[in-house]
Amino acid sequence: MPETKSYSGSCHCGAVTYDVELDVSGAIKCNCSICSRLGAVLAFAPKSKLTLKSGEDALVDYQFGKKRLHHRHCRSCGIETFAEGAMPDGTPTVAINLRCIDGMDVDKLSARPFDGRSL
Ligand SMILES: [Zn+2]
Repeated sequence: MPETKSYSGSCHCGAVTYDVELDVSGAIKCNCSICSRLGAVLAFAPKSKLTLKSGEDALVDYQFGKKRLHHRHCRSCGIETFAEGAMPDGTPTVAINLRCIDGMDVDKLSARPFDGRSL
């Protein structure tokens, strides 16, 4: 059942911290070239629901392929806590790496496979 809750997330070294309002019932496991390397389990939210508490100056932007997404990782520890992009209607959107959310047990989520490799 869709349910939006507030979560806190961080990178490994703690430079990047944020709060985000998310519905994790739509979580996905993507098979694209970067997600498969990261082992990321993702959930999406409007960018307006993400509050960066620290680390704006620590975030590096990485892009590849069609460059539709900005993969934001910490320059110190290298962990990608989220990516930024836009929905088809243009709404700024973030894809949150649920493995970076405090206390999140991603194995208890029924994350759906997502065929990002074919996009
Ligand atoms: Zn870090």
